[in-house]
Amino acid sequence: MALLFDLSPVPSLPIHGNEARFPVHRIYCIGRNYADHAKEMGAQTVSRANPVFFMKPADAIVPGGGDVPYPSATHDLHHEVEMVAALAKGGRDIDAAHALECVFGYGVGLDLTRRDLQAAMKAKGMPWDIAKGFDASAPVSALRQASEVGHPSHAELSLTVNGETRQRADIADMIFPLPDIVAELSKLFELKPGDLIFTGTPAGVGPLVRGDGFSAELHGIAMLDGYIV
Ligand code: MN
Repeated sequence: MALLFDLSPVPSLPIHGNEARFPVHRIYCIGRNYADHAKEMGAQTVSRANPVFFMKPADAIVPGGGDVPYPSATHDLHHEVEMVAALAKGGRDIDAAHALECVFGYGVGLDLTRRDLQAAMKAKGMPWDIAKGFDASAPVSALRQASEVGHPSHAELSLTVNGETRQRADIADMIFPLPDIVAELSKLFELKPGDLIFTGTPAGVGPLVRGDGFSAELHGIAMLDGYIV
C-alpha cells in the first residue's frame, strides 16, 4: 500500500552496550506516585484507589538529553525527574506478579510540565494534554537493560540544576511500584513492545529557565544531562 508521504522515523532511545536502539511506541505516565510530591501539589488525600494516568506523544522524547528547547506558551516550565521503564512485551490484564517480565530496561527522564497551564486546566476540570504532551517534553536517558542490572526496587533518583540538588528520593517510595503500574495500565490499555512508562516524581519540582543545566540520575543505572535552550 502506498502512503501519500513518509512520516518521521520511529522515535528511539539508545541502549547501553547495544548497537540497536529501542523503538518508542507510546509514553504512559503516572501522576501523584510519591506522597511528598502529591502533597506539594496540593492533593488532599493520597491513596491507592485511583492511579492518575496521562500520556505524552512518542515523538516528545529527547533521546539522551542534550539541548532541550524551552516550550512556547508557558512562563513556568517545571522539571519532574522520574524513573522510566521500557517494555519489550505487552498485553492486557497483566498480573503484577508477572509484570516485570515485560520490562526490557530502565532509564531516567524528565516529565517536563507547563505548570501554569496545568494549574489552569486543573482549575477548570479539563485535560492536562497541553501541560504535559508538548514537543520535547520527555528527555530520556539511554536505557540500561534489565538483563544487566536486574529490576531495581530501591535506587536513588536525583536531579541537580546548575549543580544544586532539586530532587532526591528513593524509588522504593513509589505509592504504585512498577509492577502495580503495569497491572493497572494494562486494565485500561493493551500495552505493547516499545511502550515507555514514566513512573512519577518525588517532591522538589520547580522551574527551569533558558540556560539551566540539568543532571538527572537513577543511581547505578542511568544518567541524563542537558541544557534548556
Ligand atoms: Mn510526572
